[in-house]
Amino acid sequence: MKKNKAIFLDRDGVLNLPIVRNKKPYSPINNKQFKIYDAVKELNKFRQSYYLIVITNQPDIKTKKISLKTLKSFHNKINQKVKIDKFYVCMHTDKDKCKCRKPNIKFFLDAKKKYKINFKKSYFIGDRWKDMIAGNKIKCKNIFINKNYAETKKYVFKYDFICKDLKSAIKFIDY
Ligand SMILES: [Mg+2]
Ligand SMILES: [Zn+2]
Repeated sequence: MKKNKAIFLDRDGVLNLPIVRNKKPYSPINNKQFKIYDAVKELNKFRQSYYLIVITNQPDIKTKKISLKTLKSFHNKINQKVKIDKFYVCMHTDKDKCKCRKPNIKFFLDAKKKYKINFKKSYFIGDRWKDMIAGNKIKCKNIFINKNYAETKKYVFKYDFICKDLKSAIKFIDY
């Protein structure tokens, strides 16, 4: 059977630990900081019926806090636990006003076109308001991993499921 749905995944705070300072999340910038959650390997069971697509904002590339080479080595490490069909990485900051930085949805539309994805049958798992608003725009099923970041209450967004980590998020997905 041909696949027509996806599990869209944010990266930091979903697949790997975020770096949290003063209740605000930051991206890991070196190998020591980059730690993948154990539950990531459980995503493999969905590969038969869903595309696994990571969509991540990585402004640290633009600001040169991290090199593209290190970023790619992180993604290789994720791929060793679960085969990701595609990593879409926005390397811009807000100032660039690009169309790919979440909550913008260019990468979701690109993926839809490339893999013929039906958003309604798809999920997006994220831990920040920018993820949830992107998910609201494309009208997929939103799974909010609530890490109680300082930003959480400032923005209005909708989600279908709420939980604390990827391990519990996975249980909401039709399989
Ligand atoms: Mg995140
Ligand atoms: Zn961008």
